[in-house]
Amino acid sequence: MKVVGLTGGIGSGKSTVAALFAQLGVPVVDTDLIAHQLSIPPSPALEDVAAVFGKEYLGSDGALDRARMRERIFEDPAARIRLDAIFHPRIRKAAQTELASLSDGPYALLVVPLLFEADGFRGLVDRSLVVNCTQEQQLARILQRSGINRSLAERIILSQLPPAKRLALADDILENNGSLSELQRQVEACHDRYLKWANDH
Ligand code: ATP
Repeated sequence: MKVVGLTGGIGSGKSTVAALFAQLGVPVVDTDLIAHQLSIPPSPALEDVAAVFGKEYLGSDGALDRARMRERIFEDPAARIRLDAIFHPRIRKAAQTELASLSDGPYALLVVPLLFEADGFRGLVDRSLVVNCTQEQQLARILQRSGINRSLAERIILSQLPPAKRLALADDILENNGSLSELQRQVEACHDRYLKWANDH
């Protein structure tokens, strides 16, 4: 089975695109979901977090204190590398297992927000699909959600790959500046191309 890696900046529309592919019958494996599952206490990954960073990075319920950890890795790039070393190999392994467990079909979608930023994920996919939108759209969509204010949203956007670099690495691009039905049309056209590609290879 072929694997298409879906990526894009925060709030670009990855989950929306993944849901549209799922509606077309494409199996979707989402590394964000896997990361959440690995962070349900108690878990080996959280034990490593406590060992490496200290118990104060876990809440009283044993769950990851995401806000505190986010602050830490923004201030301290070495901490981000250590956190990635705890989670990324486990996420990759779980993604591989989940992909291998899928019943046979032409292709699957693997959602990886940091496909181009994180090590080792590009090796899991046969081609990449980037969801792209303007930074204003991105900000507006992020701010609609609770828990993220403008300054944090801007910091997260700046910490990610610049859009031009992401687009230069993309095999395929979906532009998501319009309506949901425009996005859906693009996804349907893309799906037709992927079916042909998967059958030809
Ligand atoms: P994150 O990086 O935070 O996981 P994401 O890239 O998965 O985000 P989505 O959650 O799909 O992005 O989209 C962000 C928000 O924008 C959601 O509330 C979604 O419903 C909305 N949205 C995405 N695309 C469109 C669109 N074309 N029209 C209207 N709303 C949209």
